[in-house]
Amino acid sequence: MAAMVAPENTPVWVDTARCKACDICVDACPAGVLSMMAEPTSTLGAMISVVAPEACIGCNECELTCPDFAIYVAEKKEFKFAKLTDASKARQEAIANNKYRLPAGY
Ligand code: SF4
Ligand code: SF4
Repeated sequence: MAAMVAPENTPVWVDTARCKACDICVDACPAGVLSMMAEPTSTLGAMISVVAPEACIGCNECELTCPDFAIYVAEKKEFKFAKLTDASKARQEAIANNKYRLPAGY
């Protein structure tokens, strides 16, 4: 199946129809860009959310690890990605320690 058309000026995006809320990409992201969010209409009660797109470093880990080809990263020549910062690493740790959900206060 062809990948979704890249939205403009967006570092990372999700085909929510394919996402099974497995947490793998959230765990793989080094920059705290991704989080699971409560979603009552989803069969698993959760859905992936891009919570900090401005922190995406374009490493492609999410796209490479997603077993369902549900998440996509912009091409490096089409998007200027961020650098990995201590704040991004701290947010990632906080998300991982909170069952892959962005803690309150972020
Ligand atoms: S490309 Fe890297 S930094 Fe960006 S959301 Fe995916 S795993 Fe996170
Ligand atoms: S790895 Fe893929 S299927 Fe799993 S939560 Fe992320 S986008 Fe969804």
